[in-house]
Amino acid sequence: MTSLPSCVRIREVGPRDGLQGESPVAVPDRVRLVSALAAAGLGEIEAVAFVSPRAVPAMAGAAEVLAGLDRDSGAVYVALVPNVRGAELALEAGAEALNVTISASREYSHRNVGQSIEESLAGLRSICALAAGRPVDATVSCAFGSPYEGDIEAGVVATVGARASEAGATSLTFADTTGMATPRRVEELVASVGSEIRLHFHETRGTGLVNAYAALQLGVTAFDTSIGGLGGSPFVAGAGGNLATEGLVHLLDDLGVTSGVSLERLLEAAALAQSLVKRVLPSPVAAAGPRSRLAPA
Ligand code: MG
Repeated sequence: MTSLPSCVRIREVGPRDGLQGESPVAVPDRVRLVSALAAAGLGEIEAVAFVSPRAVPAMAGAAEVLAGLDRDSGAVYVALVPNVRGAELALEAGAEALNVTISASREYSHRNVGQSIEESLAGLRSICALAAGRPVDATVSCAFGSPYEGDIEAGVVATVGARASEAGATSLTFADTTGMATPRRVEELVASVGSEIRLHFHETRGTGLVNAYAALQLGVTAFDTSIGGLGGSPFVAGAGGNLATEGLVHLLDDLGVTSGVSLERLLEAAALAQSLVKRVLPSPVAAAGPRSRLAPA
Protein backbone atom coordinates (compact mmCIF):
# COMPACT_ATOMS: atom_id res chain seq x y z
CA MET A 1 0.00 0.00 0.00
CA THR A 2 1.13 3.55 -0.68
CA SER A 3 2.75 5.19 2.33
CA LEU A 4 0.30 7.17 4.41
CA PRO A 5 0.71 9.67 7.23
CA SER A 6 0.78 8.16 10.73
CA CYS A 7 -1.75 10.61 12.12
CA VAL A 8 -4.40 13.03 10.93
CA ARG A 9 -6.14 16.03 12.53
CA ILE A 10 -9.86 16.40 12.02
CA ARG A 11 -11.78 19.65 12.44
CA GLU A 12 -15.43 18.82 13.02
CA VAL A 13 -17.73 21.34 11.30
CA GLY A 14 -21.18 19.79 11.83
CA PRO A 15 -22.39 22.18 14.55
CA ARG A 16 -21.73 25.10 12.18
CA ASP A 17 -21.51 24.07 8.52
CA GLY A 18 -24.00 21.28 9.20
CA LEU A 19 -26.62 22.97 11.32
CA GLN A 20 -26.57 26.34 9.54
CA GLY A 21 -28.88 25.07 6.81
CA GLU A 22 -31.29 23.27 9.15
CA SER A 23 -34.30 24.51 11.06
CA PRO A 24 -32.89 26.16 14.19
CA VAL A 25 -31.82 23.73 16.93
CA ALA A 26 -32.09 25.03 20.51
CA VAL A 27 -28.91 26.30 22.18
CA PRO A 28 -28.82 23.55 24.88
CA ASP A 29 -29.11 20.89 22.18
CA ARG A 30 -26.29 22.49 20.17
CA VAL A 31 -24.18 22.45 23.34
CA ARG A 32 -25.00 18.74 23.79
CA LEU A 33 -23.94 17.98 20.24
CA VAL A 34 -20.63 19.84 20.51
CA SER A 35 -19.98 18.17 23.87
CA ALA A 36 -20.66 14.71 22.39
CA LEU A 37 -18.21 15.46 19.58
CA ALA A 38 -15.55 16.63 22.04
CA ALA A 39 -16.16 13.48 24.08
CA ALA A 40 -15.49 11.42 20.94
CA GLY A 41 -11.99 12.92 20.83
CA LEU A 42 -12.31 15.62 18.19
CA GLY A 43 -9.64 18.19 18.98
CA GLU A 44 -11.05 21.05 16.92
CA ILE A 45 -14.75 21.79 16.58
CA GLU A 46 -16.26 24.61 14.54
CA ALA A 47 -19.03 25.19 17.03
CA VAL A 48 -20.66 28.46 16.01
CA ALA A 49 -20.83 31.29 13.48
CA PHE A 50 -21.10 34.95 14.41
CA VAL A 51 -23.28 35.91 11.46
CA SER A 52 -26.48 37.92 11.18
CA PRO A 53 -29.28 35.96 12.86
CA ARG A 54 -31.63 37.39 10.23
CA ALA A 55 -29.52 35.94 7.41
CA VAL A 56 -28.82 32.61 9.15
CA PRO A 57 -31.42 32.03 11.90
CA ALA A 58 -29.95 28.61 12.79
CA MET A 59 -26.72 30.25 13.98
CA ALA A 60 -28.39 32.70 16.38
CA GLY A 61 -27.22 32.35 19.99
CA ALA A 62 -23.53 31.75 19.19
CA ALA A 63 -22.31 33.43 22.39
CA GLU A 64 -24.75 31.33 24.44
CA VAL A 65 -23.46 28.13 22.82
CA LEU A 66 -19.85 29.06 23.60
CA ALA A 67 -20.79 29.98 27.17
CA GLY A 68 -22.37 26.54 27.64
CA LEU A 69 -19.31 24.54 26.56
CA ASP A 70 -16.82 22.82 28.85
CA ARG A 71 -13.49 24.59 28.34
CA ASP A 72 -11.57 21.65 29.82
CA SER A 73 -12.81 19.13 27.25
CA GLY A 74 -9.53 19.20 25.32
CA ALA A 75 -11.25 20.53 22.19
CA VAL A 76 -10.55 23.93 20.65
CA TYR A 77 -13.81 25.69 19.78
CA VAL A 78 -13.68 27.55 16.48
CA ALA A 79 -16.03 30.35 15.39
CA LEU A 80 -16.74 31.18 11.77
CA VAL A 81 -16.76 34.95 11.30
CA PRO A 82 -17.74 36.78 8.11
CA ASN A 83 -16.35 40.20 9.01
CA VAL A 84 -14.65 42.33 11.68
CA ARG A 85 -17.86 42.81 13.67
CA GLY A 86 -18.35 39.04 13.80
CA ALA A 87 -14.75 38.61 14.93
CA GLU A 88 -15.21 41.17 17.72
CA LEU A 89 -18.29 39.34 18.98
CA ALA A 90 -16.58 35.94 18.72
CA LEU A 91 -13.51 37.07 20.67
CA GLU A 92 -15.68 38.74 23.32
CA ALA A 93 -17.57 35.45 23.66
CA GLY A 94 -14.33 33.53 24.18
CA ALA A 95 -13.82 31.82 20.81
CA GLU A 96 -10.39 30.19 20.88
CA ALA A 97 -9.86 30.23 17.12
CA LEU A 98 -11.50 31.86 14.11
CA ASN A 99 -12.30 30.73 10.59
CA VAL A 100 -12.72 33.23 7.76
CA THR A 101 -13.88 32.29 4.27
CA ILE A 102 -12.34 33.80 1.14
CA SER A 103 -13.67 32.65 -2.22
CA ALA A 104 -11.40 31.62 -5.06
CA SER A 105 -14.29 32.49 -7.39
CA ARG A 106 -14.85 36.18 -8.17
CA GLU A 107 -18.46 35.65 -9.15
CA TYR A 108 -19.30 33.43 -6.15
CA SER A 109 -17.74 36.02 -3.85
CA HIS A 110 -19.71 38.82 -5.45
CA ARG A 111 -23.06 36.99 -5.46
CA ASN A 112 -22.90 35.11 -2.16
CA VAL A 113 -20.78 37.31 0.07
CA GLY A 114 -21.45 40.67 -1.57
CA GLN A 115 -17.71 41.39 -1.61
CA SER A 116 -14.86 41.19 -4.07
CA ILE A 117 -11.98 38.84 -3.25
CA GLU A 118 -9.88 41.96 -2.54
CA GLU A 119 -12.43 43.21 -0.01
CA SER A 120 -12.54 39.78 1.66
CA LEU A 121 -8.74 39.76 1.96
CA ALA A 122 -8.78 43.25 3.48
CA GLY A 123 -11.37 42.05 6.01
CA LEU A 124 -9.21 39.01 6.81
CA ARG A 125 -6.24 41.29 7.47
CA SER A 126 -8.26 43.33 9.98
CA ILE A 127 -9.61 40.18 11.65
CA CYS A 128 -6.09 38.74 12.04
CA ALA A 129 -4.94 41.98 13.67
CA LEU A 130 -7.89 41.83 16.05
CA ALA A 131 -7.26 38.15 16.89
CA ALA A 132 -3.91 39.18 18.39
CA GLY A 133 -2.20 35.84 18.02
CA ARG A 134 -5.17 33.52 18.26
CA PRO A 135 -5.32 31.08 15.34
CA VAL A 136 -7.17 32.38 12.28
CA ASP A 137 -7.80 29.82 9.57
CA ALA A 138 -8.62 31.07 6.08
CA THR A 139 -10.92 28.74 4.19
CA VAL A 140 -10.60 29.22 0.44
CA SER A 141 -14.02 28.30 -0.93
CA CYS A 142 -14.71 27.11 -4.50
CA ALA A 143 -11.14 25.75 -4.52
CA PHE A 144 -12.16 23.05 -7.01
CA GLY A 145 -14.49 25.08 -9.16
CA SER A 146 -17.31 27.59 -9.18
CA PRO A 147 -20.93 27.23 -10.21
CA TYR A 148 -20.50 30.43 -12.24
CA GLU A 149 -17.01 30.13 -13.74
CA GLY A 150 -16.53 26.35 -13.86
CA ASP A 151 -13.04 24.99 -13.13
CA ILE A 152 -10.63 27.40 -11.47
CA GLU A 153 -6.96 26.84 -12.23
CA ALA A 154 -5.00 25.47 -9.28
CA GLY A 155 -2.49 28.31 -9.69
CA VAL A 156 -5.25 30.90 -9.25
CA VAL A 157 -6.52 29.11 -6.12
CA ALA A 158 -2.96 28.95 -4.79
CA THR A 159 -2.57 32.72 -5.25
CA VAL A 160 -5.70 33.40 -3.18
CA GLY A 161 -4.27 31.10 -0.47
CA ALA A 162 -0.90 32.84 -0.54
CA ARG A 163 -2.57 36.23 -0.23
CA ALA A 164 -4.61 34.99 2.75
CA SER A 165 -1.38 33.89 4.45
CA GLU A 166 0.15 37.31 3.73
CA ALA A 167 -2.93 38.88 5.34
CA GLY A 168 -2.13 36.98 8.54
CA ALA A 169 -4.02 33.69 8.34
CA THR A 170 -2.23 31.09 10.46
CA SER A 171 -3.52 28.12 8.44
CA LEU A 172 -5.24 27.47 5.13
CA THR A 173 -8.18 25.24 4.28
CA PHE A 174 -9.21 24.58 0.69
CA ALA A 175 -12.89 23.76 0.35
CA ASP A 176 -14.73 21.89 -2.35
CA THR A 177 -17.79 24.07 -1.85
CA THR A 178 -19.35 22.92 -5.10
CA GLY A 179 -18.58 19.20 -4.95
CA MET A 180 -16.40 19.40 -8.08
CA ALA A 181 -13.21 17.84 -6.65
CA THR A 182 -11.87 14.52 -7.91
CA PRO A 183 -8.61 12.75 -6.97
CA ARG A 184 -6.96 14.11 -10.11
CA ARG A 185 -7.86 17.67 -9.14
CA VAL A 186 -6.80 17.12 -5.54
CA GLU A 187 -3.40 16.10 -6.90
CA GLU A 188 -3.24 19.26 -9.05
CA LEU A 189 -4.11 21.51 -6.11
CA VAL A 190 -1.68 19.87 -3.69
CA ALA A 191 1.04 20.18 -6.36
CA SER A 192 0.34 23.95 -6.37
CA VAL A 193 -0.14 24.66 -2.66
CA GLY A 194 1.81 21.88 -0.92
CA SER A 195 0.52 19.37 1.62
CA GLU A 196 0.60 21.63 4.72
CA ILE A 197 -3.06 22.47 4.29
CA ARG A 198 -6.49 21.34 5.45
CA LEU A 199 -9.03 20.04 2.95
CA HIS A 200 -12.82 20.28 3.15
CA PHE A 201 -14.71 17.90 0.90
CA HIS A 202 -18.33 17.42 -0.04
CA GLU A 203 -20.09 14.24 -1.16
CA THR A 204 -22.22 16.07 -3.74
CA ARG A 205 -21.02 13.70 -6.46
CA GLY A 206 -19.93 10.89 -4.18
CA THR A 207 -16.21 11.72 -4.33
CA GLY A 208 -15.63 13.10 -0.82
CA LEU A 209 -14.06 10.03 0.75
CA VAL A 210 -12.01 9.07 -2.30
CA ASN A 211 -10.71 12.65 -2.45
CA ALA A 212 -9.67 12.39 1.20
CA TYR A 213 -7.87 9.11 0.46
CA ALA A 214 -6.09 10.71 -2.50
CA ALA A 215 -5.05 13.62 -0.26
CA LEU A 216 -3.74 11.23 2.43
CA GLN A 217 -1.53 9.57 -0.18
CA LEU A 218 -0.19 13.04 -1.05
CA GLY A 219 0.72 13.69 2.60
CA VAL A 220 -2.19 15.92 3.64
CA THR A 221 -2.88 15.41 7.35
CA ALA A 222 -5.75 17.80 8.16
CA PHE A 223 -9.39 17.53 7.14
CA ASP A 224 -12.76 19.13 7.83
CA THR A 225 -15.62 16.69 8.29
CA SER A 226 -19.18 16.87 9.54
CA ILE A 227 -20.98 14.46 11.83
CA GLY A 228 -23.48 12.37 9.90
CA GLY A 229 -22.54 14.19 6.68
CA LEU A 230 -24.69 17.13 7.80
CA GLY A 231 -24.61 20.27 5.71
CA GLY A 232 -23.06 21.47 2.51
CA SER A 233 -23.45 24.86 0.94
CA PRO A 234 -26.79 26.64 1.21
CA PHE A 235 -25.83 28.70 -1.86
CA VAL A 236 -25.05 25.92 -4.34
CA ALA A 237 -27.95 23.82 -5.60
CA GLY A 238 -27.40 20.16 -4.80
CA ALA A 239 -24.14 20.77 -2.92
CA GLY A 240 -25.44 19.02 0.20
CA GLY A 241 -23.41 16.58 2.18
CA ASN A 242 -20.14 17.39 3.83
CA LEU A 243 -17.76 14.44 4.09
CA ALA A 244 -19.03 12.50 7.12
CA THR A 245 -16.72 12.41 10.14
CA GLU A 246 -17.50 8.79 10.94
CA GLY A 247 -16.84 7.80 7.30
CA LEU A 248 -13.34 9.27 7.42
CA VAL A 249 -12.57 7.88 10.89
CA HIS A 250 -13.81 4.43 9.84
CA LEU A 251 -11.40 4.51 6.88
CA LEU A 252 -8.50 5.88 8.96
CA ASP A 253 -9.00 3.21 11.64
CA ASP A 254 -8.78 0.47 9.03
CA LEU A 255 -5.68 2.06 7.47
CA GLY A 256 -3.98 2.30 10.86
CA VAL A 257 -3.86 6.12 10.68
CA THR A 258 -4.36 7.69 14.14
CA SER A 259 -7.03 10.38 14.49
CA GLY A 260 -7.58 10.28 18.25
CA VAL A 261 -11.29 9.91 17.61
CA SER A 262 -13.44 7.05 18.90
CA LEU A 263 -15.69 5.67 16.18
CA GLU A 264 -18.16 4.25 18.71
CA ARG A 265 -18.52 7.64 20.42
CA LEU A 266 -18.87 9.32 17.01
CA LEU A 267 -21.73 7.01 16.11
CA GLU A 268 -23.44 8.08 19.33
CA ALA A 269 -22.93 11.72 18.31
CA ALA A 270 -24.32 10.94 14.83
CA ALA A 271 -27.43 9.44 16.42
CA LEU A 272 -27.82 12.58 18.52
CA ALA A 273 -27.38 14.79 15.40
CA GLN A 274 -30.07 12.80 13.61
CA SER A 275 -32.46 13.17 16.52
CA LEU A 276 -31.86 16.94 16.61
CA VAL A 277 -32.51 17.53 12.91
CA LYS A 278 -35.30 14.91 12.89
CA ARG A 279 -34.20 13.12 9.73
CA VAL A 280 -31.86 10.37 8.61
CA LEU A 281 -28.47 11.78 7.71
CA PRO A 282 -26.63 10.71 4.55
CA SER A 283 -23.71 8.92 6.21
CA PRO A 284 -23.28 5.28 5.13
CA VAL A 285 -21.22 4.35 8.20
CA ALA A 286 -23.83 5.85 10.52
CA ALA A 287 -26.45 3.74 8.73
CA ALA A 288 -24.54 0.45 8.48
CA GLY A 289 -22.23 0.65 11.48
CA PRO A 290 -18.51 -0.21 11.35
CA ARG A 291 -17.31 -3.09 9.17
CA SER A 292 -16.24 -4.88 12.32
CA ARG A 293 -19.75 -4.91 13.74
CA LEU A 294 -21.27 -8.37 13.54
CA ALA A 295 -24.95 -9.12 13.34
CA PRO A 296 -26.51 -10.15 16.66
CA ALA A 297 -26.50 -13.93 17.15
MG1 MG B 1 -19.02 22.29 3.71
